Amino acid sequence: MIKITLPDGSVKEFAPNITPMEVAKSISEGFARNVISASFNGTIVETTTPLTTDGSLILYTWNDEGGKKAFWHSTSHVMAQVLEEMYPGIKLTLGPAISNGFYYDVDFEDHKITDADFKKIEDRVLEISREKHEFKLRPVSKSEALEVYKDNVYKTELITNLEDGTITFCDHSTFTDLCRGGHIPNTGIIKAMKIMSVAGAYWRGDEKNKQLTRVYGISFPKQKDLTEYLELLEEAKRRDHRKLGKELELFAFSTKVGQGLPLWLPKGAALRDRLEQFLKKAQKKAGYEQVVTPHIGQKELYVTSGHYAKYGADSFQPINTPAEGEEFLLKPMNCPHHCEIYNVRPWSYKDLPKRYAEFGTVYRYEQSGELHGLTRVRGFTQDDAHIFCTPDQLDQEFKNVIDLVLYVFGSLGFENFTAQISLRDQENRDKYIGSDENWEKAENAIINAAADKGLKTVVAYGEAAFYGPKLDFMVKDALGRQWQLGTIQVDYNLPERFELTYKGSDDQLHTPVMIHRAPFGSMERFIAILIEHTAGKFPLWLMPEQAIILSLSEKYEIYAKKVLNLLENHEIRALIDNRNETIGKKIRDAEMQKTPFMLIVGEEEEKNGTISIRRQGQEGNGNMSVTIEEFVAIVTEEIGKTLKTFTV
Ligand SMILES: [Zn+2]
Ligand SMILES: [Zn+2]
Repeated sequence: MIKITLPDGSVKEFAPNITPMEVAKSISEGFARNVISASFNGTIVETTTPLTTDGSLILYTWNDEGGKKAFWHSTSHVMAQVLEEMYPGIKLTLGPAISNGFYYDVDFEDHKITDADFKKIEDRVLEISREKHEFKLRPVSKSEALEVYKDNVYKTELITNLEDGTITFCDHSTFTDLCRGGHIPNTGIIKAMKIMSVAGAYWRGDEKNKQLTRVYGISFPKQKDLTEYLELLEEAKRRDHRKLGKELELFAFSTKVGQGLPLWLPKGAALRDRLEQFLKKAQKKAGYEQVVTPHIGQKELYVTSGHYAKYGADSFQPINTPAEGEEFLLKPMNCPHHCEIYNVRPWSYKDLPKRYAEFGTVYRYEQSGELHGLTRVRGFTQDDAHIFCTPDQLDQEFKNVIDLVLYVFGSLGFENFTAQISLRDQENRDKYIGSDENWEKAENAIINAAADKGLKTVVAYGEAAFYGPKLDFMVKDALGRQWQLGTIQVDYNLPERFELTYKGSDDQLHTPVMIHRAPFGSMERFIAILIEHTAGKFPLWLMPEQAIILSLSEKYEIYAKKVLNLLENHEIRALIDNRNETIGKKIRDAEMQKTPFMLIVGEEEEKNGTISIRRQGQEGNGNMSVTIEEFVAIVTEEIGKTLKTFTV
């Protein structure tokens, strides 16, 4: 008998050569119908692969990433079959699954694939799929494999690098491909497929090699899923923060300043400042103290912290000075600076915890191909803080940080999130620094704090950093995309490297525990995600302009100014549009800026001392006539719905 461990920790015994699909059926027939892929001891296997040893088995459905990968990769086989049919003589190379769909890199030789062919390819893929062909993995010898692909230099190169005895082909229908596995049981479940685009791609990503054609596709088990996916893509395009950032005049990039170095325009800078003030206010209540540290530090500082080893070679290189041997680095992390702030004087356990916060700008060199709007940049500001505490205080500090993170999410309209708890790999405890006792304390502190706060959690073993366990907030945005926002990490490493101490109640010196935390993560990335989540319609408290006053003609300019003054007295951010334009044009422009309230003033309003409100996204030229006081009350009430006071 062999012992199969399932993800819930249960162990079942089976006769050797049982297949993953048979294990699934032993759990339930209904479950087995949804199983489309599996992994055994961390390696992807077919659902038909006989299992011969003890091990851990994970069974995947479409709802798992592992299931989607197998689904998409399997579709790439069917697409390759169709491409070979339609363009005889082409050379197939590699066809992996990617995060959204799959691609196949093809040498089309004398053929050319165009948009006009897509529909025909898609139809044929679905036709073949409906025939329910099984995917069958078959071992072949190296010489046999080389013989089959003797006219394909790419596959020949791949096979040459493989070891004899490990090579497999995958057969389905009349088609065979070199493949190591990871397929769905049969083609029948592929119900929708679309070719997304074609692009050039060098063989093996090396521009010295021949350029191939990369055909991108995606597939789904239901037509409805494809329709929804395409709608989501369209909506994502409309919400792209790079597009909206330009339209809303929030930020820009300049090739003269340099790639990946964002320039914050007045409206964007004001928005960012409001976010900073918002967090500073809450942090003050939570007992944080603001500190400020320089943008550079001596190379030695980062050698001590270990960041030089991590970022040194692949990032910005040291800055030299006229003094020989003197080297500074652009700071890649704020933590070493904060450790040195802690080290300025001795501490007693009675002084702890110390909580140092800083909106600290850090610099890391990202490859230009990796740069993307505000989400991947070369200089960014972390809403960083470091808490230095005793091991016994960890529990409470963790709970406090979670409270703060939840407050931030709530105020900004992120309601859908899970917390990932990253713990040690239980089997390889020696690759982590710090004592077993401290690790257990920290891991329990995180688990307890998350449970205490009622967080929806997933536990990831082996995902902890070598220096401590952590908790990451995975947030789903309005389009259902998942982002990692907000991280809380326990660290036993830096306090040791920087020889941080405090005097305990036993009069002995002890090493404090350090917590790194950043609810936003980075201001740049957070604002990018916020723009896409809200489509630029930020919560009212955060909007660059909460209202715009549109006068029907120049005659009402004085009254418009009076309205503006009154609003400013109530700290409502407003502007006057007194351009010599039609009211229709002014409304369209304010709509573009997503200004929440358009306040229309004309003869009637001036006479009655009122304004006509038109809400962003509404029809008409102002459909509610109110006094300034009434308007202020409307704004205050709406702000109060999202922006609550932080309490500890
Ligand atoms: Zn395959
Ligand atoms: Zn840190």
